[in-house]
Amino acid sequence: MSRFWSPIVRSLTPYVAGEQPAVPDLVKLNTNENPYGPSPRALAAIRDAATDGLRLYPDPTASQLRQAIAATHGIGSDQVFVGNGSDEVLAHAFAGLLKHDGPLLFPDVTYSFYPTWCGLYGIEHRAVPVDEALQVRVADFRQPCGAIILPNPNAPTGLALPLDGIEALLRDHPDQPVVIDEAYVDFGAESAVPLVARHPNLLVVQTFSKSRGLAGLRVGFAIGQRPLIEALERVRDSFNSYPTDRLALAGAVAAWEDRAWFETQRDRVVASRERLAGALRSLGFEVLPSAANFLFARHPAIPGEALAAGLRARAILVRRFARPRIQDHLRISIGTDAECDRLVAALRELTGAAPAA
Ligand SMILES: *Cc1c(COP(=O)(O)O)cnc(C)c1O
Repeated sequence: MSRFWSPIVRSLTPYVAGEQPAVPDLVKLNTNENPYGPSPRALAAIRDAATDGLRLYPDPTASQLRQAIAATHGIGSDQVFVGNGSDEVLAHAFAGLLKHDGPLLFPDVTYSFYPTWCGLYGIEHRAVPVDEALQVRVADFRQPCGAIILPNPNAPTGLALPLDGIEALLRDHPDQPVVIDEAYVDFGAESAVPLVARHPNLLVVQTFSKSRGLAGLRVGFAIGQRPLIEALERVRDSFNSYPTDRLALAGAVAAWEDRAWFETQRDRVVASRERLAGALRSLGFEVLPSAANFLFARHPAIPGEALAAGLRARAILVRRFARPRIQDHLRISIGTDAECDRLVAALRELTGAAPAA
């Protein structure tokens, strides 16, 4: 607290990101990064862009990247908005699209950045409880509201809604903006992008951080009809006109175009996820069916806090949220199979389970 702070700063509850400690030989399964990293073509493009050209500002509208994304989806590039990570794109959506008379609705168990942006921008909000299985129920969103945001698959549960559920939500709220945060969609959920043409109230947000292994580059994007994209552009140009730098744009274009690398690494993560889910179940864990690059699991007899501490003592980081309903769950990012094996060995010790035959 300082007398130099603006009043708003005193009232903020900042988001707490998963930690990034510099511990040697750490198994880092706490922030859903991709263990396989970016396409080599992306790295080459970034190197090629590291020239004297960096004295010039980047393309403020990221036109080449927008065209690449638009071509894949068969839409106009003016229906794509690019930002400095999808967190920035989402923040602009909160400022530009999600503040209305009536509360913004999101699930009670969801990405914990949402209430933080509500605090920053003064957005009234209401958490809609997920059901006993931690699944989002679209029918429970049928209530008066100003706007809706939800991740699909949801975080930190990894549970996905089918596309007809998303479409029902859009039909129930034709007069409210609905933002679908698809940070993890590539790992097993259906994208809502094909619904954009029919639903002027839909904004879909995706990122290069997870499925394209580029969390360090900070590139995210949104797809929607022109009026929604224009709102994001107006906020951007009132905040920072050059959100994505030259290196990021070069790397993101090359990563987007290397479809083969993307598919191969995604398939490896999905295969490891299913293998790890089986191993955890055999140790007695309850594991939610995940459509993401992480698992959400709890042990029926051992508190989550004890498990997380025991893993940490063995240099393995996972994420735990000290929040009602989910305090005993661990959110475990999918690492390499070797990392997953170390996790399983540690959990076998911590749960006192017998070694596998
Ligand atoms: C990781 C994540 C994001 C943000 O990713 P960026 O790295 O900022 O692109 C957005 N939403 C959810 C649900 C996430 O888990």
